This record gives sequence, C-alpha cells and structure tokens, in this order.
Amino acid sequence: MSEAALHVGSGKVRELYALDDNRLLLLASDRISTFDVVLPTEIPDKGRVLTGLSGFWFARTSDLVPNHLLTLREDGRSTECTRLEMLPIECVVRGYLAGSGWKDYRATGQVCGHPLPAGLVESQQLPRPIFTPATKAETGHDENIDRAAAVELVGEERFDEVEATALALYSFVSDYAQERGLILADTKLEFGIDGQDRLVLGDEAFTPDSSRFWPAGEYRPGGTPPSFDKQFVRDYCESLGWDKTAPGPELPEHVVTGTRARYVEAFERLTGIGFDEYLADPVVVLR
Ligand code: ATP
Ligand code: MG
Repeated sequence: MSEAALHVGSGKVRELYALDDNRLLLLASDRISTFDVVLPTEIPDKGRVLTGLSGFWFARTSDLVPNHLLTLREDGRSTECTRLEMLPIECVVRGYLAGSGWKDYRATGQVCGHPLPAGLVESQQLPRPIFTPATKAETGHDENIDRAAAVELVGEERFDEVEATALALYSFVSDYAQERGLILADTKLEFGIDGQDRLVLGDEAFTPDSSRFWPAGEYRPGGTPPSFDKQFVRDYCESLGWDKTAPGPELPEHVVTGTRARYVEAFERLTGIGFDEYLADPVVVLR
C-alpha cells in the first residue's frame, strides 16, 4: 500500500484508506459478523471471495449502472475505488420472502409498504421483485422503511432512479445465478453519488455477505432453504445459546472450515472460475 494512504474508516468487514481526494482503497478483511457482532475468529480467504465476486459483478453490470471499481489489486482483497458520497439508505431488493421481509410480512401483510397477496409462506417467491430500502443504522440493526421515509432521506427523483437501478441489477444477477443453479433470494446494494452528481454502485455487490443465495435444487417454499450466506455460522452461534451481544463466541475449527468452503463454493458456482485461479491472478474475474 502507498505510504500516503490514510486510514479513514473501519467497517465490520472492511478497512478504508484514502489514496487521494477522489479515490479510496477498500480492504476486505476475513472478519465475519453475525447478528451485527464481529466474531473473534476469522474465516481464511473470506475477504478475497467477497472482493473477487464483487469485481466479477461490477465488470458485468457496468452497462446497467456505473460502479466505483477502479483497480483490483494483486492481493485479491483490496480494490481502488472512486470515493463516493454514500446515500443514507441500504438498497434491498427481494424476490423471495426471507429474513426481515418474512418477519414484516407475517406481522403486517406488507414489506416496506408494498402490499402483498395473503397466504404467502416463508421463502415463497414474490409475484415480482420489490425494492425494500432500510435505514443505515450507525449502531445496531438496520430498519426497513417505506417509500415516503426513503424519499425523505434521498429525494424523490433519486429514489426513483435508485429503485429502478436496483431492480434492474437484481434481475440481471438473478437470471445469471439461475443458470448456475442458484436462486438469488434477496440482496443489499449501496449506492453513492460521484463528483459529477451521477448515481454510482459502491461497496460490495452480490456476495454471500450481502445476498441470500439458495441452491435451486433444494428450494422448497414453506421453510428455510440451506443457503450460502452466514446461516451456517448463525446456526452454530444460536446452538450455544449466545445472547447476540458482543463479544461473540469463538468458532471451532469445523465451523471455520465449513464456512470457508461455503464462501469458496459460492464464488466458484457463480463465476465459473476456480478459486485457485483467482488467487493466482485476481483480474481474471474482470474479463
Ligand atoms: P458499517 O460501515 O455500517 O459498519 P459494514 O460493517 O457493512 O457497515 P464494511 O462493509 O465493513 O461496513 O465497510 C464498508 C464501508 O465503506 C461502508 O460503510 C460503505 O458504505 C463504505 N463504502 C463503500 N464503498 C464506498 C465508496 N466508494 N465511497 C465511500 N464509502 C464507501
Ligand atoms: Mg458492508
């Protein structure tokens, strides 16, 4: 890393450095969080999986929306990016009823103000994908909000642009995943505004940390399909009776190995590229 890079922030997973006024270095660590708590145990190569997959999608969706990626570095876990003014909302698209979407539907029959047919079951496919924004909580959990609340935060014009763009991205990646035997149940995107006032896709995109991918062959509405997201680690943590407040539990070796294998499998199935090949030459995902 350049001597001049200044550490400007630290998320649960990423370290952010300023390269200059217009560029950031995003470094994805191997940290894993569950229930918004970073665990003391790392998952080897997880940051590389997230970085490689994001790069893969950025390269394939740049005609739908510009993205922040400038350079993918040789370590496979750092990227030079355009520095953006991030919008204060998490841009979630759901094609299926899972997680907080399912919870809200069960309680109110709606998700973020979208009225839905009665009688849907957990994990069921929605009549059409919906945009369900959430607040970006500085601490604690994000909260689902309706259109009016999101418009309040970003303005009506920007909201409409973000909604249309997020739905188009979801549709592209969900078709792509479907051809590889995976269902993209839902995903969280983060957008920002660049120096020319353009909407730009930032952060990570369509990774197991930001998305729920389900193997299509094992999908049955009415339950929780096995997924490539953090369910495996979550299940382990819950089996301990942990109260979901910091500090989180250490992970035993078999949970570390199993989790790493799931991240790597998601990478390989979605990209069709061997993970070893990526480690040898990360820019392979951009071709
Ligand atoms: P939080 O930042 O709330 O802790 P997180 O734990 O998901 O969320 P990380 O993914 O670890 O955070 O770190 C990424 C951070 O960098 C996020 O806050 C994200 O909004 C921000 N970010 C991503 N891309 C850009 C960009 N191009 N310009 C500015 N900020 C960005
Ligand atoms: Mg993040």
